[in-house]
Amino acid sequence: MLLKNVLWEDSQAHILIQGNLIQKVSREPIDVPASEEVIDCSGKAVIPGFVNSHTHAAMIMLRGINEDLTLYQWLDKVWASEAKMDGEFIYWGTKAACLEMIKSGTTTFNDQYWFPSHARKAAVEMGLRPAVSFIFLDSQDPKMAAMQRIACQKLYEKSLDWGTKSLFTISIHSVYTVTEENILWAADFARDRGLKIHMHLAETAQEDQDCRRLHKGLSPTEYFDALGVFGPDVIAAHCLFLSDKDIQILGDHKVSCVHNINSNLKLASGYQFRFKELQEAGANVCLGTDGAASSNTVDMLEHMKNSAMVQKAWRKDPAALPLNDLLASATVNGAKALGLNSGEIKEGKLADLSLIDLGGTEFISPAPTLANLVYAAHSDVITDVMAGGKWIMRNRVVPNEAEILREARKVLKQI
Ligand SMILES: [Zn+2]
Repeated sequence: MLLKNVLWEDSQAHILIQGNLIQKVSREPIDVPASEEVIDCSGKAVIPGFVNSHTHAAMIMLRGINEDLTLYQWLDKVWASEAKMDGEFIYWGTKAACLEMIKSGTTTFNDQYWFPSHARKAAVEMGLRPAVSFIFLDSQDPKMAAMQRIACQKLYEKSLDWGTKSLFTISIHSVYTVTEENILWAADFARDRGLKIHMHLAETAQEDQDCRRLHKGLSPTEYFDALGVFGPDVIAAHCLFLSDKDIQILGDHKVSCVHNINSNLKLASGYQFRFKELQEAGANVCLGTDGAASSNTVDMLEHMKNSAMVQKAWRKDPAALPLNDLLASATVNGAKALGLNSGEIKEGKLADLSLIDLGGTEFISPAPTLANLVYAAHSDVITDVMAGGKWIMRNRVVPNEAEILREARKVLKQI
């Protein structure tokens, strides 16, 4: 397939796609045999598909229900709702989230939620590339911890049949919800099998204080470091309450640190995410939406804008988060975190991309497309989305949208 006359990094380009890969990107016209599909993309720009590096997709079903609460009050409410969920609920909830993700240009997401097999099935059916997880969360109860190890082993064995269109990760929910025995067990289990480790880290001031009280004055980052958990295979969400020493630890171990601005703002956890310091220390900084029960949207474009605006404001520095770093955190850095050859419009990369309609007022000025996309446009300018060489949205139409909405509403009624 040839995408011709598309705006790429502000000049005209032609992109040849073969199978699931970008075969060629050229400023000169590319000749293809008459049998190849040629799509004229005049009036459109191309960007890499977004990688949402931390979310709980099916939480979209709880959106807006528990407003104006702190994280710990909010978690109590959410855990009560989650106790009633089943696989069917997660399947349709994930489909609803995928619908919103596709419509806002996401092609890969790093999920951490219950019934991961159902979530994976939902995402793969819609053409998205999910990373789903077994979640260690044992409320510090040794009996439950032992049961979780057996369940993790079982799910891992099942995941071996999942093929290449999805990833399986191991989640250590957080420092405050998992026994030390299981933190060590989960990290070893993941490392022995080459699986990524997904966690929440240093999300609130309370978490930092509690951890220091329980673990000889160690911060959550120092505590995980003392247990040998960190490495380039770790994806840590939030990373909001970090000392200089914590940042050094995360940088030295090349941890992927995920900024989740909406969730941090809405739960009033904080907003001084130290993007620049983490990047300079050697960490891989990514963006995620967290679950829509706290962030209220899985739209990465909105998270890009909010991340940049808040960085500029609290640092009193308009250059605090340049557009190219912002785009990298929403695309190629997320791909790197998951070990995917994706996130860039480049020869040999997975063909994960979105087309942007440049016909509206958002793009009327001669500014760089990325500036207008992030600061002026909303995700409805994204017309077409491709994941792994296959269109998953064409002209803003995602297959089976009506069915997804109907079935999601039905399972919501059941709980
Ligand atoms: Zn989260």
